[in-house]
Amino acid sequence: MVAAKAEAESMKKKELVHSPILTYFSVITLLSTCPPFVILLWYTMVHQDGSILNAFNYLKEHGIEGFVNIWPRPTAVAWKIIACYALFEAALQLWLPGKRVEGPISPTGNKPVYKANGVLAYVVTLVTYVSLWWFGIFNPTVVYNHLGEIYSALIFGSLVFCVFLYIKGHVAPSSTDSGSSGNIIFDFYWGMELYPRIGKNFDIKVFTNCRFGMMSWAVLAVTYCIKQYETNGKVADSMLVNTVLMLVYITKFFWWEAGYWNTMDIAHDRAGFYICWGCLVWVPSIYTSPGMYLVNHPVNLGPQLAISILIAGILCIYINYDCDRQRQEFRRTNGKALVWGKAPSKIVASYTTTKAETKTSLLLTSGWWGLSRHFHYVPEIMAAFFWTVPALFDNFLPYFYFVFLTILLFDRAKRDDDRCRSKYGKYWKTYCSKVPYRIIPGIY
Ligand code: NDP
Repeated sequence: MVAAKAEAESMKKKELVHSPILTYFSVITLLSTCPPFVILLWYTMVHQDGSILNAFNYLKEHGIEGFVNIWPRPTAVAWKIIACYALFEAALQLWLPGKRVEGPISPTGNKPVYKANGVLAYVVTLVTYVSLWWFGIFNPTVVYNHLGEIYSALIFGSLVFCVFLYIKGHVAPSSTDSGSSGNIIFDFYWGMELYPRIGKNFDIKVFTNCRFGMMSWAVLAVTYCIKQYETNGKVADSMLVNTVLMLVYITKFFWWEAGYWNTMDIAHDRAGFYICWGCLVWVPSIYTSPGMYLVNHPVNLGPQLAISILIAGILCIYINYDCDRQRQEFRRTNGKALVWGKAPSKIVASYTTTKAETKTSLLLTSGWWGLSRHFHYVPEIMAAFFWTVPALFDNFLPYFYFVFLTILLFDRAKRDDDRCRSKYGKYWKTYCSKVPYRIIPGIY
Protein backbone atom coordinates (compact mmCIF):
# COMPACT_ATOMS: atom_id res chain seq x y z
CA MET A 1 0.00 0.00 0.00
CA VAL A 2 2.79 2.40 1.00
CA ALA A 3 4.79 1.36 -2.07
CA ALA A 4 1.76 1.89 -4.32
CA LYS A 5 1.20 5.39 -2.88
CA ALA A 6 4.84 6.34 -3.33
CA GLU A 7 4.67 4.90 -6.85
CA ALA A 8 1.67 7.08 -7.69
CA GLU A 9 3.56 10.14 -6.38
CA SER A 10 6.57 9.29 -8.51
CA MET A 11 4.21 8.85 -11.50
CA LYS A 12 2.83 12.35 -11.00
CA LYS A 13 6.34 13.79 -10.94
CA LYS A 14 7.29 11.83 -14.05
CA GLU A 15 4.61 13.36 -16.25
CA LEU A 16 5.68 16.84 -15.32
CA VAL A 17 9.34 16.90 -16.34
CA HIS A 18 8.30 19.73 -18.69
CA SER A 19 5.86 22.46 -17.62
CA PRO A 20 2.24 21.17 -17.24
CA ILE A 21 0.97 23.16 -20.26
CA LEU A 22 3.80 21.92 -22.48
CA THR A 23 3.23 18.35 -21.28
CA TYR A 24 -0.53 18.46 -22.07
CA PHE A 25 0.14 20.12 -25.40
CA SER A 26 2.80 17.63 -26.50
CA VAL A 27 0.82 14.58 -25.32
CA ILE A 28 -2.38 15.61 -27.12
CA THR A 29 -0.47 16.69 -30.24
CA LEU A 30 1.44 13.41 -30.46
CA LEU A 31 -1.69 11.29 -29.83
CA SER A 32 -3.58 13.03 -32.62
CA THR A 33 -0.87 13.64 -35.24
CA CYS A 34 1.30 10.51 -35.18
CA PRO A 35 -1.25 8.11 -36.76
CA PRO A 36 -2.09 10.31 -39.81
CA PHE A 37 1.58 11.20 -40.19
CA VAL A 38 2.51 7.51 -40.63
CA ILE A 39 0.04 7.24 -43.52
CA LEU A 40 1.15 10.52 -45.05
CA LEU A 41 4.80 9.51 -44.97
CA TRP A 42 4.08 6.13 -46.57
CA TYR A 43 1.87 7.76 -49.24
CA THR A 44 4.50 10.38 -50.09
CA MET A 45 7.31 7.82 -50.25
CA VAL A 46 5.45 5.23 -52.31
CA HIS A 47 2.97 7.25 -54.39
CA GLN A 48 4.47 10.75 -54.66
CA ASP A 49 8.08 9.84 -55.44
CA GLY A 50 9.21 10.90 -51.94
CA SER A 51 8.43 14.54 -52.75
CA ILE A 52 6.83 16.61 -50.00
CA LEU A 53 5.91 19.23 -52.62
CA ASN A 54 3.93 16.70 -54.71
CA ALA A 55 2.09 15.47 -51.61
CA PHE A 56 1.40 19.05 -50.52
CA ASN A 57 -0.02 19.93 -53.96
CA TYR A 58 -2.24 16.85 -53.85
CA LEU A 59 -3.58 17.79 -50.41
CA LYS A 60 -4.04 21.42 -51.46
CA GLU A 61 -6.13 20.31 -54.39
CA HIS A 62 -8.17 17.58 -52.67
CA GLY A 63 -8.32 18.76 -49.07
CA ILE A 64 -9.35 16.55 -46.13
CA GLU A 65 -11.43 14.29 -48.37
CA GLY A 66 -8.33 13.66 -50.48
CA PHE A 67 -6.45 12.64 -47.34
CA VAL A 68 -9.25 10.28 -46.26
CA ASN A 69 -9.13 8.71 -49.74
CA ILE A 70 -5.40 7.96 -49.54
CA TRP A 71 -5.74 6.31 -46.10
CA PRO A 72 -5.82 2.58 -46.97
CA ARG A 73 -8.39 0.44 -45.16
CA PRO A 74 -6.87 -2.48 -43.24
CA THR A 75 -7.45 -5.55 -45.42
CA ALA A 76 -7.62 -9.27 -44.60
CA VAL A 77 -4.17 -9.72 -46.21
CA ALA A 78 -2.71 -7.03 -43.93
CA TRP A 79 -4.25 -8.56 -40.77
CA LYS A 80 -3.01 -12.04 -41.80
CA ILE A 81 0.56 -10.80 -42.35
CA ILE A 82 0.59 -9.00 -38.99
CA ALA A 83 -1.00 -11.95 -37.14
CA CYS A 84 1.44 -14.52 -38.61
CA TYR A 85 4.42 -12.31 -37.82
CA ALA A 86 3.27 -11.46 -34.27
CA LEU A 87 2.44 -15.09 -33.41
CA PHE A 88 5.75 -16.29 -34.86
CA GLU A 89 7.72 -13.73 -32.81
CA ALA A 90 5.71 -14.44 -29.64
CA ALA A 91 6.39 -18.18 -30.04
CA LEU A 92 10.14 -17.56 -30.52
CA GLN A 93 10.20 -15.30 -27.44
CA LEU A 94 8.46 -17.92 -25.31
CA TRP A 95 10.04 -21.13 -26.51
CA LEU A 96 13.56 -20.52 -27.84
CA PRO A 97 16.18 -21.34 -25.22
CA GLY A 98 18.12 -18.52 -23.54
CA LYS A 99 20.12 -17.62 -20.47
CA ARG A 100 18.24 -16.38 -17.40
CA VAL A 101 18.97 -12.65 -16.98
CA GLU A 102 17.96 -10.33 -14.15
CA GLY A 103 16.94 -6.74 -14.91
CA PRO A 104 17.80 -3.78 -12.66
CA ILE A 105 16.01 -3.38 -9.32
CA SER A 106 12.76 -1.51 -9.91
CA PRO A 107 11.62 1.53 -7.87
CA THR A 108 9.52 -0.74 -5.63
CA GLY A 109 12.33 -3.25 -5.18
CA ASN A 110 11.35 -5.92 -7.75
CA LYS A 111 13.91 -7.63 -9.97
CA PRO A 112 12.38 -8.64 -13.31
CA VAL A 113 13.71 -11.86 -14.80
CA TYR A 114 14.10 -12.39 -18.56
CA LYS A 115 15.14 -15.09 -21.00
CA ALA A 116 17.95 -13.79 -23.24
CA ASN A 117 17.12 -15.46 -26.57
CA GLY A 118 17.11 -12.34 -28.78
CA VAL A 119 20.03 -13.25 -31.05
CA LEU A 120 18.54 -16.67 -31.72
CA ALA A 121 15.10 -15.15 -32.44
CA TYR A 122 16.74 -12.62 -34.80
CA VAL A 123 18.66 -15.28 -36.74
CA VAL A 124 15.65 -17.62 -36.93
CA THR A 125 13.42 -14.76 -38.14
CA LEU A 126 15.73 -13.56 -40.92
CA VAL A 127 16.70 -17.07 -42.08
CA THR A 128 13.02 -18.10 -42.16
CA TYR A 129 11.98 -14.94 -44.04
CA VAL A 130 14.70 -15.16 -46.69
CA SER A 131 14.16 -18.93 -47.06
CA LEU A 132 10.42 -18.43 -47.63
CA TRP A 133 11.35 -16.10 -50.50
CA TRP A 134 14.21 -18.24 -51.84
CA PHE A 135 12.09 -21.40 -51.99
CA GLY A 136 9.13 -19.55 -53.52
CA ILE A 137 6.80 -20.06 -50.54
CA PHE A 138 6.17 -16.39 -49.73
CA ASN A 139 7.31 -13.34 -51.65
CA PRO A 140 8.25 -10.34 -49.44
CA THR A 141 7.09 -8.01 -52.23
CA VAL A 142 3.56 -8.85 -51.00
CA VAL A 143 4.47 -7.02 -47.77
CA TYR A 144 5.73 -3.98 -49.70
CA ASN A 145 2.68 -3.97 -51.99
CA HIS A 146 0.33 -3.98 -48.97
CA LEU A 147 2.44 -1.69 -46.80
CA GLY A 148 -0.19 1.07 -46.52
CA GLU A 149 -2.86 -1.41 -45.41
CA ILE A 150 -0.41 -2.99 -42.97
CA TYR A 151 0.38 0.40 -41.39
CA SER A 152 -3.31 1.22 -41.25
CA ALA A 153 -4.06 -2.08 -39.48
CA LEU A 154 -1.09 -1.54 -37.13
CA ILE A 155 -2.31 1.96 -36.23
CA PHE A 156 -5.76 0.75 -35.17
CA GLY A 157 -4.65 -2.60 -33.75
CA SER A 158 -1.97 -0.94 -31.60
CA LEU A 159 -4.40 1.69 -30.30
CA VAL A 160 -6.69 -1.14 -29.14
CA PHE A 161 -3.65 -2.85 -27.61
CA CYS A 162 -2.79 0.33 -25.67
CA VAL A 163 -6.37 0.44 -24.34
CA PHE A 164 -5.85 -3.17 -23.21
CA LEU A 165 -2.63 -2.10 -21.42
CA TYR A 166 -4.50 0.74 -19.73
CA ILE A 167 -7.30 -1.57 -18.51
CA LYS A 168 -4.80 -4.24 -17.44
CA GLY A 169 -2.86 -1.61 -15.49
CA HIS A 170 -6.03 -0.79 -13.57
CA VAL A 171 -7.54 -4.21 -12.98
CA ALA A 172 -4.72 -6.76 -13.15
CA PRO A 173 -1.22 -5.28 -12.78
CA SER A 174 1.53 -7.87 -12.96
CA SER A 175 3.64 -6.36 -10.15
CA THR A 176 3.78 -3.53 -7.61
CA ASP A 177 5.59 -1.43 -10.25
CA SER A 178 2.31 -0.01 -11.40
CA GLY A 179 0.28 3.04 -10.54
CA SER A 180 -2.03 5.72 -11.78
CA SER A 181 -1.15 9.40 -12.09
CA GLY A 182 -4.83 10.19 -11.51
CA ASN A 183 -5.08 11.53 -15.06
CA ILE A 184 -6.63 9.29 -17.72
CA ILE A 185 -4.72 10.90 -20.63
CA PHE A 186 -1.32 10.56 -18.94
CA ASP A 187 -2.09 7.01 -17.83
CA PHE A 188 -2.94 6.05 -21.40
CA TYR A 189 -0.01 7.98 -22.90
CA TRP A 190 2.80 7.16 -20.45
CA GLY A 191 1.35 3.83 -19.33
CA MET A 192 0.75 2.42 -15.88
CA GLU A 193 2.78 -0.76 -15.56
CA LEU A 194 6.56 -0.89 -15.72
CA TYR A 195 6.78 -4.65 -16.29
CA PRO A 196 3.43 -5.92 -17.61
CA ARG A 197 3.38 -9.63 -18.31
CA ILE A 198 0.98 -12.22 -19.66
CA GLY A 199 1.33 -15.17 -17.33
CA LYS A 200 4.63 -15.34 -15.51
CA ASN A 201 7.00 -15.39 -18.45
CA PHE A 202 5.66 -13.42 -21.40
CA ASP A 203 7.03 -9.91 -20.97
CA ILE A 204 4.91 -7.46 -22.98
CA LYS A 205 7.56 -4.73 -23.36
CA VAL A 206 10.17 -7.20 -24.59
CA PHE A 207 7.59 -8.26 -27.18
CA THR A 208 6.49 -4.78 -28.30
CA ASN A 209 9.90 -3.07 -28.20
CA CYS A 210 12.27 -5.84 -29.23
CA ARG A 211 10.59 -8.78 -30.87
CA PHE A 212 7.89 -6.89 -32.76
CA GLY A 213 9.32 -3.37 -33.21
CA MET A 214 13.07 -3.81 -33.66
CA MET A 215 12.60 -7.15 -35.44
CA SER A 216 10.17 -5.57 -37.93
CA TRP A 217 12.85 -3.00 -38.77
CA ALA A 218 15.17 -5.82 -39.92
CA VAL A 219 12.39 -7.68 -41.73
CA LEU A 220 11.32 -4.53 -43.60
CA ALA A 221 14.92 -3.57 -44.47
CA VAL A 222 15.25 -6.98 -46.16
CA THR A 223 11.81 -6.55 -47.77
CA TYR A 224 12.82 -3.24 -49.41
CA CYS A 225 16.00 -4.80 -50.76
CA ILE A 226 14.12 -7.76 -52.23
CA LYS A 227 11.46 -5.46 -53.71
CA GLN A 228 14.12 -3.45 -55.54
CA TYR A 229 15.73 -6.65 -56.76
CA GLU A 230 12.42 -8.06 -58.02
CA THR A 231 11.55 -4.78 -59.76
CA ASN A 232 14.92 -3.93 -61.35
CA GLY A 233 16.67 -7.31 -61.46
CA LYS A 234 19.48 -5.91 -59.29
CA VAL A 235 20.10 -4.04 -56.05
CA ALA A 236 21.73 -0.57 -56.28
CA ASP A 237 24.80 0.02 -54.10
CA SER A 238 22.89 2.79 -52.24
CA MET A 239 20.27 0.24 -51.18
CA LEU A 240 22.98 -2.24 -50.21
CA VAL A 241 24.75 0.31 -47.99
CA ASN A 242 21.46 1.32 -46.37
CA THR A 243 20.37 -2.28 -45.73
CA VAL A 244 23.75 -3.48 -44.47
CA LEU A 245 24.09 -0.53 -42.04
CA MET A 246 20.56 -0.97 -40.71
CA LEU A 247 21.14 -4.71 -40.28
CA VAL A 248 24.47 -4.12 -38.51
CA TYR A 249 22.66 -1.72 -36.17
CA ILE A 250 19.83 -4.18 -35.48
CA THR A 251 22.29 -7.08 -35.05
CA LYS A 252 24.09 -4.93 -32.47
CA PHE A 253 20.76 -4.30 -30.79
CA PHE A 254 19.94 -8.00 -30.41
CA TRP A 255 23.51 -8.83 -29.42
CA TRP A 256 23.13 -6.32 -26.61
CA GLU A 257 19.40 -6.91 -25.94
CA ALA A 258 19.90 -7.90 -22.30
CA GLY A 259 21.73 -4.57 -21.86
CA TYR A 260 18.73 -2.79 -23.41
CA TRP A 261 16.63 -4.21 -20.55
CA ASN A 262 18.65 -1.91 -18.24
CA THR A 263 17.93 1.26 -20.20
CA MET A 264 15.30 3.99 -19.78
CA ASP A 265 12.88 2.37 -22.26
CA ILE A 266 12.50 -0.69 -20.08
CA ALA A 267 13.59 0.33 -16.58
CA HIS A 268 11.86 3.74 -16.43
CA ASP A 269 9.26 4.20 -19.20
CA ARG A 270 5.98 2.45 -18.56
CA ALA A 271 3.96 0.40 -21.04
CA GLY A 272 1.65 2.92 -22.70
CA PHE A 273 1.10 4.71 -25.99
CA TYR A 274 4.49 6.48 -25.87
CA ILE A 275 6.63 3.36 -25.80
CA CYS A 276 4.34 0.57 -27.02
CA TRP A 277 2.46 2.29 -29.84
CA GLY A 278 5.79 3.85 -30.79
CA CYS A 279 7.48 0.47 -31.11
CA LEU A 280 4.52 -1.27 -32.77
CA VAL A 281 3.83 1.42 -35.39
CA TRP A 282 6.45 4.19 -35.44
CA VAL A 283 9.48 1.87 -35.65
CA PRO A 284 8.22 -0.24 -38.62
CA SER A 285 7.08 2.88 -40.50
CA ILE A 286 9.32 5.85 -39.66
CA TYR A 287 12.55 4.09 -38.66
CA THR A 288 12.55 2.02 -41.84
CA SER A 289 11.62 4.98 -44.08
CA PRO A 290 15.06 5.68 -45.65
CA GLY A 291 14.95 2.13 -47.09
CA MET A 292 11.32 2.61 -48.17
CA TYR A 293 12.44 5.68 -50.16
CA LEU A 294 15.38 3.89 -51.80
CA VAL A 295 13.13 1.15 -53.28
CA ASN A 296 12.04 3.55 -56.05
CA HIS A 297 15.27 5.61 -56.10
CA PRO A 298 18.09 3.22 -56.99
CA VAL A 299 20.95 5.74 -56.71
CA ASN A 300 24.38 4.50 -57.82
CA LEU A 301 27.13 5.77 -55.54
CA GLY A 302 30.14 3.96 -57.00
CA PRO A 303 32.36 1.66 -54.95
CA GLN A 304 34.55 4.35 -53.34
CA LEU A 305 31.71 6.46 -51.94
CA ALA A 306 29.63 3.41 -51.01
CA ILE A 307 32.51 1.83 -49.05
CA SER A 308 33.39 5.14 -47.33
CA ILE A 309 29.79 5.61 -46.14
CA LEU A 310 29.65 1.98 -45.03
CA ILE A 311 32.85 2.25 -42.96
CA ALA A 312 31.80 5.56 -41.38
CA GLY A 313 28.39 4.10 -40.47
CA ILE A 314 29.85 0.92 -38.97
CA LEU A 315 32.29 3.02 -36.92
CA CYS A 316 29.41 5.07 -35.48
CA ILE A 317 27.43 1.94 -34.63
CA TYR A 318 30.53 0.50 -32.93
CA ILE A 319 31.12 3.66 -30.85
CA ASN A 320 27.46 3.75 -29.81
CA TYR A 321 27.73 0.09 -28.76
CA ASP A 322 30.96 0.76 -26.90
CA CYS A 323 29.41 3.65 -24.91
CA ASP A 324 26.55 1.41 -23.73
CA ARG A 325 28.95 -1.47 -23.07
CA GLN A 326 31.31 0.76 -21.05
CA ARG A 327 28.53 2.00 -18.76
CA GLN A 328 27.15 -1.47 -18.21
CA GLU A 329 30.53 -3.12 -17.59
CA PHE A 330 31.35 -0.33 -15.15
CA ARG A 331 28.12 -0.94 -13.22
CA ARG A 332 28.31 -4.77 -13.50
CA THR A 333 31.83 -4.87 -12.01
CA ASN A 334 30.94 -2.31 -9.37
CA GLY A 335 33.37 0.24 -10.85
CA LYS A 336 36.30 -2.18 -11.14
CA ALA A 337 36.47 -2.64 -14.94
CA LEU A 338 39.18 -0.59 -16.68
CA VAL A 339 37.91 2.29 -18.79
CA TRP A 340 40.11 3.10 -21.80
CA GLY A 341 42.88 1.14 -20.10
CA LYS A 342 42.74 3.05 -16.80
CA ALA A 343 40.94 2.75 -13.48
CA PRO A 344 37.66 4.65 -13.95
CA SER A 345 36.93 7.94 -12.24
CA LYS A 346 33.54 7.84 -10.56
CA ILE A 347 31.03 9.33 -8.16
CA VAL A 348 29.38 7.18 -5.49
CA ALA A 349 25.82 8.54 -5.49
CA SER A 350 23.17 7.79 -2.86
CA TYR A 351 19.46 7.96 -3.50
CA THR A 352 16.24 7.08 -1.72
CA THR A 353 13.81 4.56 -3.21
CA THR A 354 10.02 4.95 -3.18
CA LYS A 355 10.06 2.59 -0.15
CA ALA A 356 12.27 5.15 1.65
CA GLU A 357 15.33 2.87 1.56
CA THR A 358 18.74 4.43 0.92
CA LYS A 359 20.77 2.86 -1.88
CA THR A 360 23.93 3.74 -3.80
CA SER A 361 24.76 3.78 -7.49
CA LEU A 362 28.00 4.51 -9.31
CA LEU A 363 28.28 7.27 -11.88
CA LEU A 364 31.13 6.93 -14.36
CA THR A 365 32.92 10.21 -15.05
CA SER A 366 35.65 9.03 -17.42
CA GLY A 367 35.74 7.31 -20.82
CA TRP A 368 32.81 8.14 -23.13
CA TRP A 369 30.79 9.18 -20.06
CA GLY A 370 33.43 11.79 -19.19
CA LEU A 371 33.13 13.49 -22.63
CA SER A 372 29.51 14.48 -22.05
CA ARG A 373 26.60 13.13 -20.03
CA HIS A 374 24.87 11.59 -23.08
CA PHE A 375 27.70 11.25 -25.55
CA HIS A 376 26.25 7.90 -26.74
CA TYR A 377 23.55 9.83 -28.65
CA VAL A 378 26.12 11.44 -30.97
CA PRO A 379 27.16 8.22 -32.78
CA GLU A 380 23.51 7.03 -32.70
CA ILE A 381 22.46 10.14 -34.65
CA MET A 382 25.47 9.97 -36.98
CA ALA A 383 24.79 6.30 -37.80
CA ALA A 384 21.25 7.28 -38.86
CA PHE A 385 22.76 9.96 -41.09
CA PHE A 386 25.10 7.45 -42.75
CA TRP A 387 22.37 4.95 -43.59
CA THR A 388 20.25 7.76 -45.03
CA VAL A 389 22.88 9.64 -47.04
CA PRO A 390 22.98 6.97 -49.82
CA ALA A 391 19.64 8.58 -50.87
CA LEU A 392 21.67 11.75 -51.65
CA PHE A 393 19.88 15.09 -51.54
CA ASP A 394 17.08 15.16 -54.15
CA ASN A 395 14.39 15.00 -51.47
CA PHE A 396 14.21 15.89 -47.80
CA LEU A 397 11.83 13.10 -46.75
CA PRO A 398 14.37 10.24 -46.35
CA TYR A 399 16.07 12.49 -43.75
CA PHE A 400 12.92 12.72 -41.67
CA TYR A 401 14.02 9.86 -39.38
CA PHE A 402 17.43 11.49 -38.86
CA VAL A 403 15.80 14.82 -37.88
CA PHE A 404 13.19 13.10 -35.71
CA LEU A 405 15.88 11.04 -33.93
CA THR A 406 17.93 14.17 -33.24
CA ILE A 407 14.91 15.89 -31.63
CA LEU A 408 13.94 12.71 -29.74
CA LEU A 409 17.41 12.20 -28.27
CA PHE A 410 17.90 15.86 -27.33
CA ASP A 411 14.55 15.73 -25.52
CA ARG A 412 15.45 12.37 -23.98
CA ALA A 413 18.74 13.77 -22.68
CA LYS A 414 16.79 16.53 -20.93
CA ARG A 415 14.24 14.05 -19.52
CA ASP A 416 17.02 11.80 -18.31
CA ASP A 417 18.99 14.68 -16.75
CA ASP A 418 15.86 15.86 -14.93
CA ARG A 419 15.12 12.34 -13.70
CA CYS A 420 18.70 11.77 -12.53
CA ARG A 421 18.79 15.20 -10.84
CA SER A 422 15.70 14.35 -8.81
CA LYS A 423 17.05 10.85 -8.08
CA TYR A 424 20.63 11.72 -7.13
CA GLY A 425 20.31 15.39 -6.02
CA LYS A 426 23.71 16.86 -5.02
CA TYR A 427 25.61 13.89 -6.52
CA TRP A 428 24.14 14.68 -9.94
CA LYS A 429 25.16 18.31 -9.46
CA THR A 430 28.73 17.13 -8.82
CA TYR A 431 28.58 15.00 -11.98
CA CYS A 432 27.32 18.02 -13.97
CA SER A 433 30.17 20.18 -12.70
CA LYS A 434 32.72 17.47 -13.61
CA VAL A 435 31.09 16.73 -16.98
CA PRO A 436 29.39 20.00 -17.95
CA TYR A 437 28.13 19.17 -21.45
CA ARG A 438 24.87 17.33 -21.98
CA ILE A 439 25.46 15.77 -25.42
CA ILE A 440 28.06 17.40 -27.68
CA PRO A 441 31.39 17.99 -25.90
CA GLY A 442 32.34 21.68 -25.91
CA ILE A 443 29.07 22.78 -27.53
CA TYR A 444 25.91 21.57 -25.75
P1 NDP B 1 20.58 4.66 -20.84
O1 NDP B 1 19.35 4.27 -20.07
O2 NDP B 1 21.40 3.55 -21.39
O3 NDP B 1 21.48 5.62 -19.97
C1 NDP B 1 20.94 6.56 -19.12
C2 NDP B 1 20.87 6.02 -17.68
O4 NDP B 1 22.17 5.61 -17.26
C3 NDP B 1 20.46 7.07 -16.68
O5 NDP B 1 19.05 7.12 -16.58
C4 NDP B 1 21.11 6.61 -15.40
O6 NDP B 1 20.29 5.55 -14.86
C5 NDP B 1 22.41 5.98 -15.90
N1 NDP B 1 23.54 6.89 -15.96
C6 NDP B 1 23.54 8.19 -16.34
N2 NDP B 1 24.79 8.68 -16.30
C7 NDP B 1 25.58 7.69 -15.89
C8 NDP B 1 26.97 7.58 -15.64
N3 NDP B 1 27.79 8.61 -15.80
N4 NDP B 1 27.46 6.39 -15.22
C9 NDP B 1 26.66 5.34 -15.02
N5 NDP B 1 25.32 5.38 -15.26
C10 NDP B 1 24.79 6.54 -15.68
O7 NDP B 1 20.17 5.62 -22.01
P2 NDP B 1 19.16 5.38 -23.20
O8 NDP B 1 18.11 4.37 -22.86
O9 NDP B 1 18.70 6.72 -23.62
O10 NDP B 1 20.07 4.78 -24.37
C11 NDP B 1 20.40 3.41 -24.52
C12 NDP B 1 20.75 3.13 -25.98
O11 NDP B 1 19.57 3.18 -26.80
C13 NDP B 1 21.73 4.13 -26.57
O12 NDP B 1 22.58 3.45 -27.43
C14 NDP B 1 20.85 5.06 -27.36
O13 NDP B 1 21.56 5.67 -28.39
C15 NDP B 1 19.78 4.09 -27.86
N6 NDP B 1 18.51 4.76 -28.13
C16 NDP B 1 18.00 4.71 -29.41
C17 NDP B 1 16.81 5.32 -29.70
C18 NDP B 1 16.24 5.26 -31.08
O14 NDP B 1 15.08 5.61 -31.24
N7 NDP B 1 17.00 4.87 -32.09
C19 NDP B 1 16.02 6.00 -28.66
C20 NDP B 1 16.65 5.96 -27.37
C21 NDP B 1 17.84 5.38 -27.12
P3 NDP B 1 20.35 5.07 -13.32
O15 NDP B 1 19.02 5.44 -12.77
O16 NDP B 1 20.54 3.59 -13.43
O17 NDP B 1 21.48 5.77 -12.66
